[in-house]
Amino acid sequence: MKRIKNNWLNIDRFSLELRLIIGIATFSVLVLGSIATWTSWKMQQILINSHKQNIEQIAQRLPQDVGIYSQMMQPETGLQKAINNLTNTNTLLWLKSPDHKILEKSATLDLLSDSTVAELMSLTKMPINPEVYKVNQSYFVLCGRPLKIQGKLLGELFVVKNITSEQTMFVAMVHNLGIISVLAIIILTSAIALYIKRSLKPLQQLNQMTDLICAEDLGQAQLYLDNAPSEVKELAQTLNMLLSRLSQSWEQEREFVSNISHELRTPLTIVHGYLQSVLRRQNNLTQTQQEALETAASEAERTIRLLQDLLALARADSSNLHLQMKSYMLNDLVEEIVVMAQKDSDRVITIESKIDPIEVKVDYVRLQQVLLNLIHNAVQYSEANTPITFKLDQRQDKAIIQVCDQGYGIPLQHQARIFERFYRVDKSRSHATGGPGLGLSIVKTLIQGMGGTVSVQSKLGEGSIFTISLPI
Ligand code: ADP
Repeated sequence: MKRIKNNWLNIDRFSLELRLIIGIATFSVLVLGSIATWTSWKMQQILINSHKQNIEQIAQRLPQDVGIYSQMMQPETGLQKAINNLTNTNTLLWLKSPDHKILEKSATLDLLSDSTVAELMSLTKMPINPEVYKVNQSYFVLCGRPLKIQGKLLGELFVVKNITSEQTMFVAMVHNLGIISVLAIIILTSAIALYIKRSLKPLQQLNQMTDLICAEDLGQAQLYLDNAPSEVKELAQTLNMLLSRLSQSWEQEREFVSNISHELRTPLTIVHGYLQSVLRRQNNLTQTQQEALETAASEAERTIRLLQDLLALARADSSNLHLQMKSYMLNDLVEEIVVMAQKDSDRVITIESKIDPIEVKVDYVRLQQVLLNLIHNAVQYSEANTPITFKLDQRQDKAIIQVCDQGYGIPLQHQARIFERFYRVDKSRSHATGGPGLGLSIVKTLIQGMGGTVSVQSKLGEGSIFTISLPI
């Protein structure tokens, strides 16, 4: 359940946190992006409209001015005067005859570059409603009207306004608006991400607390969060109820296992006793009968051992181990157990000690059971000619006992689970390749009962090292 990550590199792609952040970031990009786009468009419209009105007024006024001047002077001079009056550096006018000859033009046209003027002059038709037109990086709003004086068509009047400076300013503004929008999106998303992270923290805490609960403390486990929102508190309460129900059923299961083991062990021991006594008086048994009785006796013995293991675990679960803790010299104790183990096995078992004799407080019988179990496994899971070594050491205030073999080893993916009840690497449950998978869970339970720890290091094909650490 190690799922929640702080590191950006280890982000969980399916987490609620990431989904909420992506959702809100997308939403703010869409909203702020739309507002920025709409604002730019609106500003452009306002800019163009203000110039449109201006050039429309000029296009309407020029014929009236030309009419007035024509009454006082030559029509051509009147036209020139009217054009000059309405012209300024940004507003340009020219008149084209119906056969596209320039009749009159603003003097300020000469201020523009030749290519710009040439392109503007080459326009033959002008829109009646003003439009924006781009020529050589310059922007113009332009429109055209037929010019009639006293009912006579003089040609087409072109009214053009240079809006390059405003347009440049407008582009800069849009640019700034874009930068501000991006910054706003980043700040907003970061603030929201922080808020989401804080809001989801109680859930993470609940997750971590639940993760720490193990089968042994189901009964006492209580999930409580101080400043969590009501929904999370409700969830914690529901989980607490679930834990209490789990604890009850776990308790019932333990009692059941304990009772059934107890009930089965007694009659089975009697059966085993009878089988042994019959086998001892084997004079009138046939070969087949004797073999059948031997198989029955060995199976009964194996089942009695299994029931004893189950009973030991059930007692440990209900804190009824009743350990007889006394002080012993570790080196002597291990030596005695090795001598005992060597009686039943032809395997070479050596002891390597790096320390002076040290005193440990243990239950002698239980530690003997633990070490015999580890020797039994080392023998069972290695070739007959390979040695088994006990290494004794001291690390700070801990006595270390290592049982090393040069056997088959345990695959890495199984190493964390071999201390679980009924867990076996070879799942086939064949009697030839091991027991029921209770040995190491008993080892762990007993060692923990004595205040120690047990762990394994193993390499496939090279062997295994079981390390027991006991308080001195
Ligand atoms: P079992 O009764 O099957 O021996 P244990 O709890 O003692 O059960 O061991 C669990 C599993 O761990 C075994 O099935 C075996 O595969 C593996 N195992 C235990 N000790 C060793 C060892 N010394 N070398 C290799 N595998 C081992």
